[in-house]
Amino acid sequence: MHNETVWNGNNLLQIMDDLFPIMRSITGPGVRKSLEKLQAIAPLVVHEVKSGSDVLDWTVPEEWHFKRAWIEDGKGTIVLDSESSNLHVVNFSVAVDQIMSREELLPHLHSLPETPHSVPYRTTYYAEQWGFCLSHNELQQLGDGPFHVRIDAKRTPGVLNYGEICVPGESPSEILISTHICHPQLANDNLSGMVLAAALANYIGKNKPSLTWRFVFVPGTIGAISWLSQNQNTVSTIVGGLVLTGLGDSSSFNWKKTRAGNGWIDRLVQQVLEQAVPDYHATLPFSPYGYDERQYCSPGFNLPIGRLTRAVHGTFPEYHTSDDNMDFVSASNLEESLELLKGIADAIDIDMVYQNLSPYAEPQLGRRGLYSAFGANVDPGRFQMALLWMLNQSDGTHSLSDISTVSKIPILELHDAAIILVEHELLIAVRHASEPFNQEFQGVE
Ligand code: ZN
Repeated sequence: MHNETVWNGNNLLQIMDDLFPIMRSITGPGVRKSLEKLQAIAPLVVHEVKSGSDVLDWTVPEEWHFKRAWIEDGKGTIVLDSESSNLHVVNFSVAVDQIMSREELLPHLHSLPETPHSVPYRTTYYAEQWGFCLSHNELQQLGDGPFHVRIDAKRTPGVLNYGEICVPGESPSEILISTHICHPQLANDNLSGMVLAAALANYIGKNKPSLTWRFVFVPGTIGAISWLSQNQNTVSTIVGGLVLTGLGDSSSFNWKKTRAGNGWIDRLVQQVLEQAVPDYHATLPFSPYGYDERQYCSPGFNLPIGRLTRAVHGTFPEYHTSDDNMDFVSASNLEESLELLKGIADAIDIDMVYQNLSPYAEPQLGRRGLYSAFGANVDPGRFQMALLWMLNQSDGTHSLSDISTVSKIPILELHDAAIILVEHELLIAVRHASEPFNQEFQGVE
């Protein structure tokens, strides 16, 4: 609806290229500029929460306005400069303008001796400190000093921004998609999540979905907490959700389970993964560490939200370093992730529970012409099995994704069978799988 562009790996990669150099943080102009660029993909609305606002147990910080950070040696030669990488300054650093010895400077320098060519990513959001990040090789060539160290930055009262898109569906029950937007110059974590969430919003917005979809683009931790604080009276409409991050690299897919671990969204996502990428995914248990699922899955909210990732934070050497750059991601990886997300969205949209209207023995399919009601592209025997599974399992408790799990038949094929059976008045849709009754699902023997 937003525009007619069909988003794919190539044009999403271009948007990422455009976003990459912007100096983002949890607040400030970089966040606003990034949200504005995402509006090319989907019509997100930018919200503001004032600095100093109490949000649950936290306080919204000031805005960070950064211009440049650099170090000159004794000869006036610039030896380190944020102009060459945003990662060179510790994000949210306070200002400094000081001549200092090598010894005085060293505690403010961060490097990675084990990967000596990489610049680490560090932040100081909640402490009034400053620092620089550099490769271990650069650190070793720094010289003896003294050094003139300057960070041109300030923290001022302003707002915290986040982006939000709501696509109303037939039902007020909501799916929440959340992605963090605060990393200054890292590609996979999390420009990939940002552009894919926006592309998914664009896709969902093309037709009216069954459920309502809400997309939030939030600075990590404090943004999610601010959003929860502002919406704490309405989040009970959320029936499932995904945190999206790290989806542009070539690793296999990982579903991190919700806090409850076996709710509807867990079963559905795992079933889609099983069918779309059978040998290319894994399921991770819930843990109270990671991305913003930590906030959504805190016990007070306990929302059924999991996380979809490719490479998992902290387990790959490029994580939070200058090696998570545009070479670490590719158009084909982004496209593969987008197709998977669309598959999950389609499955969510059609995941209904049906009731068999002729449940005493099998209805006579031949009399109704159903032995020849096969789609052109579908193996007749296979479609026959889809009809039989739908008739057998549709007792008002099993949804398409449940039936897909036991039958190993893709959800879309079961959906096609259900449509035909509904036309022949053998099935009736009773509710969407996300509706509360499904919590009592006992599994199929
Ligand atoms: Zn990160």
